Amino acid sequence: MKILVQKFGGTSVADLDAMRHVLSKVQKGLVNHDKVIVVLSARAGDTNKLLALAQQWSDTPDKAECDCLVSTGEQVSIALFSMLLKDNGISARSLLSWQIPIQTNDDFGNARILDIDRDKLKSLLESYDVLVVAGFQGMTEDGRITTLGRGGSDTSAVALAAALDSCECEIYTDVDGVYTTDPNICSAARKMDCVSYEEMLELASMGAKVLHIRSVEFAKKYKVPVRVRSTFSDDPGTLVTKEDASMEAVLVSGIAYDKDQARVTLRDLPDIPGTAAAVFGPLSEKGVLVDMIIQNTSQDGHTDITFTVSRRDLTKTLEIMQGISEKIGASEILHDVNVAKVSAIGVGMRNHSGVAARAFTALTQEGINILMISTSEIKITILIQEKYVELAVRILHDTFGLDWDIA
Ligand code: ADP
Ligand code: ASP
Ligand code: MG
Repeated sequence: MKILVQKFGGTSVADLDAMRHVLSKVQKGLVNHDKVIVVLSARAGDTNKLLALAQQWSDTPDKAECDCLVSTGEQVSIALFSMLLKDNGISARSLLSWQIPIQTNDDFGNARILDIDRDKLKSLLESYDVLVVAGFQGMTEDGRITTLGRGGSDTSAVALAAALDSCECEIYTDVDGVYTTDPNICSAARKMDCVSYEEMLELASMGAKVLHIRSVEFAKKYKVPVRVRSTFSDDPGTLVTKEDASMEAVLVSGIAYDKDQARVTLRDLPDIPGTAAAVFGPLSEKGVLVDMIIQNTSQDGHTDITFTVSRRDLTKTLEIMQGISEKIGASEILHDVNVAKVSAIGVGMRNHSGVAARAFTALTQEGINILMISTSEIKITILIQEKYVELAVRILHDTFGLDWDIA
């Protein structure tokens, strides 16, 4: 049985007009495949509205109940779209995650998929041509509803494709594919025909929200080719796939940015073994994800440590730091929320030196001050003041020759 998984994001299901475009993509999918699994997000804006509703009821909404609430956005989409399919003579039904089930752990708000009942899905596919599955949601072993984190419907789709050995997973969105940077902030951005799993992982984890990070992890692990394309055009989009030699020829393939950063500095810590562990241990125990870290060189046996966290974790982070400041001997705790990070990513960096220096020079020439730097084998990340982020993206895009060749 040839099965295609197609996922449609919030703007693709926002209203009846948009859903008619989705219908036509599903009809096309059925021409070359025996069955189609459609994964839908909530209509654009619905998840935000539900989260805001939770905040009206409680300053600290219960995480499990919050998931029970926000997961309903996807329920609306799958019911409405299934009606449309049936009205057009297609045999289809809607499915919530617990009806399959898609089993997750109990990390409410950020749950991980553990298992999908493929036999149940296969038996449902005997009865229907199209299954319309709610993205973003799962179910714990003891039957509670979970959600997979913002943008998580991509992960639902790729996980279903992996479970069903589907030949390809199509992710439909409001842009024509994966671009060299966010096309909504850089008009010179170019669509890529293909991108490696590794580069896409870095792009996604550095802020390119076009794909949810865990969807790329799944795709890489289970070798699912993912095609990102637009619901509203016939462009073939971008194939996310395994690396090949031609990809390495390109030094930098994309620029990503992330404004969800807050910087924390601990001053005058004793430069002795155990200090970093005493700082970062309590943060990880409380589930705070630390992103960039730098420790200054020691002066008179003392040093500063600076790190970044997501802005939503800043209050918690500062409370934890205040709680341990006496124990760790910090003279001061500073913070700044007006920061953002910009990253240049490319598998070609593995074999070339001087990429970081080119990035720093280009930013310096425009008077952008570099606050923090971190590098990996295929990525350079720079923390700067938030007000410069769009400018920095455009400068790096130009510096690494990613702009459209207008000639
Ligand atoms: P959906 O609701 O369909 O899941 P998202 O809003 O999650 O769509 O993701 C699509 C958006 O990702 C685009 O509108 C674009 O602004 C943004 N984006 C960021 N970086 C990139 C990139 N490198 N390529 C394409 N889109 C990107
Ligand atoms: N509706 C969810 C969100 O807005 C999941 C998704 O769109 O992928 O984050
Ligand atoms: Mg998305």
